[in-house]
Amino acid sequence: VAKVKNKLEGVWRLSKLGVPVGDDPGKDFLGISEGLLQAIAKVIEFPVASMLPEEAFSVIRKSFDARKILKEAKFVYTVDLDVKTLLELEPRAHDFIFRLEPKIGLIEHVPTEKSVPGDLISVVNDCKKSNSETSSGEYEPQIINGSGDPHQHGGGGGRSKPKIAIVGGGPSGLFAALVLAEFGADVTLIERGQAVEERGRDIGALVVRKILDMESNFCFGEGGAGTWSDGKLVTRIGKNSATVLAVLKTLVRFGAPDNILVNGKPHLGTDKLIPLLRNFRHYLQSAGVTIKFGTRVDDLLVEDSRVVGVKVSDSTDQLQSTSQNLKFDAVVLAVGHSARDTYEMLHSRNVELTPKDFAVGLRIEHPQELINHIQYSSMASEVLKGRGKVPVADYKVVQYVNDKDEDLSQSSSKRSCYSFCMCPGGQVVLTSTNPTELCINGMSFSRRSSKWANAALVVTVSAKDFDILNLNGPLAGIEYQREFERRAAIMGGGDFTVPVQRVTDFLQNKLSETPLPPSSYRLGVKSANLHELFPAHITEALRQSISMFEKELPGFISEEALLHGVETRTSSPVRIPRSNETYESTSLKGLYPVGEGAGYAGGIVSAAVDGMFSGFAVAKSFDLFDGTI
Ligand code: FAD
Repeated sequence: VAKVKNKLEGVWRLSKLGVPVGDDPGKDFLGISEGLLQAIAKVIEFPVASMLPEEAFSVIRKSFDARKILKEAKFVYTVDLDVKTLLELEPRAHDFIFRLEPKIGLIEHVPTEKSVPGDLISVVNDCKKSNSETSSGEYEPQIINGSGDPHQHGGGGGRSKPKIAIVGGGPSGLFAALVLAEFGADVTLIERGQAVEERGRDIGALVVRKILDMESNFCFGEGGAGTWSDGKLVTRIGKNSATVLAVLKTLVRFGAPDNILVNGKPHLGTDKLIPLLRNFRHYLQSAGVTIKFGTRVDDLLVEDSRVVGVKVSDSTDQLQSTSQNLKFDAVVLAVGHSARDTYEMLHSRNVELTPKDFAVGLRIEHPQELINHIQYSSMASEVLKGRGKVPVADYKVVQYVNDKDEDLSQSSSKRSCYSFCMCPGGQVVLTSTNPTELCINGMSFSRRSSKWANAALVVTVSAKDFDILNLNGPLAGIEYQREFERRAAIMGGGDFTVPVQRVTDFLQNKLSETPLPPSSYRLGVKSANLHELFPAHITEALRQSISMFEKELPGFISEEALLHGVETRTSSPVRIPRSNETYESTSLKGLYPVGEGAGYAGGIVSAAVDGMFSGFAVAKSFDLFDGTI
């Protein structure tokens, strides 16, 4: 009886509901269409789709599937069916629900209401409420007051608040700051780059006048490396997980469109990221966080083997004559993977660092129309520069190639080669932080309406590769990146000109003749033989895998496709070991390495999640909560 009763309560989650493109209002519509009701009716075997009330259903995820194995392209939905509402509005559905059986991956019964997390601010406030019953710690936070003022932070009962420095204002630093501020810590966010408004001007000067500000650029500044980016919010850490959802809801709270909660491949684009970051900053400031832009951490203050603060200077002052010592109880290090000077400082302080595998390669750019055509065939005309019914086409490819290079190892091993950070309707941008080095990446705006599609094609590298160039020690990976960035700068001939080669010529190892296909890269390109950039085994791995990608994406090897050099900063070349539980560095007390630069994240969402968890860990270590989320 209980089993039967349960079936008629709660929620049924219906997955893989396919709606042909012709029956769907299009990629921007996230409601319940007639086409979707038809698909739902089919699954629950209800005879008249139009009698199903829209109110009983909510779209959890919507993706577009145009794989060639399908007879026709379709939108694929996951939908929650609220049994109570359905039976209230359409009692005749009773028998159909009664007969419904769970089917793995297709129909799942959620007997009681699922506890869906809110944004991070409400998650922390819930923790604080439950904590108030148990906490007896030194830094007991002041719980939200009766008036519900969310900014009544910290330091209840006259106790002092822990002073926490967050170094780096990328996703990991921002989310750590948010959690700690909500728990009532006295947080100072220190960022070497500028706030988005000024950073935008610095990036403008770079793109238009070729002036690189070494402290405010595509890697450094408010929002971190992902601000002038495609803003892809896809992550391998489980898109439906409660933690990812809490991060995405927090972004929505600060102004991201709520379709990111539903889209199978959510992305924001630079134009949406900038106002979002401004709102994030204003919230943090209203929560009592002190934000210091244009301030670089040059050193750690260490006493009795414990971090007790940081030495900072105005980031425009290379001589550090403006340096100041700031005292803190803990330092969260969220500096990203381009803070090479910071890694060197940590190394000189004997903080444990270990080399980490990453990937290097080139960025390929095609006309977007070509990619639309490869992926969608006749439906390519529906893209309409991001305003059409179907999303601007992207791709993701991976291949494993044999590694037979003599220098590398006697036995043959497999090396993976894959597309990375694909930006449909985007542009290639300069991510150098030093004028003698040249490296690139991709960005886009929310509509993804440019006429180009770019993606990195990269090959994994590890310590044995660094060895070939006689590079060793914990910072070998950084030197390895630098080597190719310098070579690329020289091959380009200076002024941030990027060396390029037609993919067809790269495969034949010959220089491309001019005129070259147009490139979205604004600072200039120059024909060069990219075979001369990397060691032969990397070039060979790229060459082999590009030929294999062609089988998957016929037309990928095209006279119109241009390879740009060099893509090196795919992920951190260094890991800063830390405790799994406390997030504290294994070699220095009071230091909390987080995010991509510490080697614990790759991408905006995973960095934000890591920052969030580090915030909880630091809060716990200062008894700001009892450790139950
Ligand atoms: P970061 O974002 O790198 O932030 C670190 C911050 O620390 C920086 O702002 C830096 O200025 C500051 N800092 C460094 N050293 C110091 C110091 N000594 N003192 C003070 N401040 C310091 N990821 C995606 O998921 N989707 C995408 O579409 C995407 N596109 C990208 C496009 C580009 C052009 C780039 C460069 C990256 C892109 N990424 C993307 C990667 C993503 O940006 C990073 O994975 C993410 O930002 C890492 O977050 P983080 O907080 O760990 O570090």
